[in-house]
Amino acid sequence: MSAQQPHPKHISITFDDVPIHAEFALPAQSVKQINQQLLDTLKKYNIKATGFVNEGHVKNDPEVLQSLLADWHQQGHNLGNHTFSHISYHKTDLDSYLADIEKGATTTQTVLGKQKQQFFRPPYLHAGDTNAAQQLLDKGLEKLGLTLVPVTMENADYVFDAPYTAKLQNKQLATANSYQQQYLAFTEQRLDFYHSASAKMFDQPVPQILMLHVNQLNADSLDNILLSLQSRGYQFQSLEQTLQHPIYSQPTPAFKFGIHWLFRWDKAMGNKVNWATEPEPSAEAFAEQRQAIATLKNR
Ligand SMILES: [Zn+2]
Repeated sequence: MSAQQPHPKHISITFDDVPIHAEFALPAQSVKQINQQLLDTLKKYNIKATGFVNEGHVKNDPEVLQSLLADWHQQGHNLGNHTFSHISYHKTDLDSYLADIEKGATTTQTVLGKQKQQFFRPPYLHAGDTNAAQQLLDKGLEKLGLTLVPVTMENADYVFDAPYTAKLQNKQLATANSYQQQYLAFTEQRLDFYHSASAKMFDQPVPQILMLHVNQLNADSLDNILLSLQSRGYQFQSLEQTLQHPIYSQPTPAFKFGIHWLFRWDKAMGNKVNWATEPEPSAEAFAEQRQAIATLKNR
């Protein structure tokens, strides 16, 4: 590689709440459609993603759950664990938490067959509110053969999804579309911010891990998000490859609140980033989210 050529940038795509983010109920047909759209887009970009499964979100219909998970598995994506009940480790004792993780692998393990589940993502990114609690969780996960997977990029998709879904259901297509454009613009701001934060923290590009949720908004937006990443020079790679980079084996201080790992590492490495400038959804967007969830829950 010549001195003029920039280092290639790499990213792994991960989804939480496979097969569906569940702040409100959606018809089974919509859940199927959302998963299909996501998988079709991943195939278009030849991406092998990792999906963190919440079996509890589709607990009343084990056959539907199994067939959705089988679609992910058969298309070469990795199925990780995200607990059964989407509980917070910060509000649960270790034994109950580990039991919920094991329960959350039941249908997934049927789908995986002889292949072992490898990865775990904690709901709310609650990985231990003290260093001791964090170490206990790591040991417990190790016994289950699971590795905790950090997040370095996320775009607050759950804030934008409920209003978008509500507008679609109300057949307000133009409003839904402009809301989606707002979401995509926000995503671009976040991608640029995390890129410049990483550049301040590390002397060369480090592989990133993007967290998205399985929802209607991302089913309709994933193509645009992946294009935005490509236009910024990112190449997609598997989670296994990304986790081999040494930044992912450095010690990470515990945090009481769920925050991505760039923030955690920067706090430990001397605070080179001004996190007050991290783009946040507007107060209006949060208010719209609350209102839309209330509306959708009543349908
Ligand atoms: Zn989740």
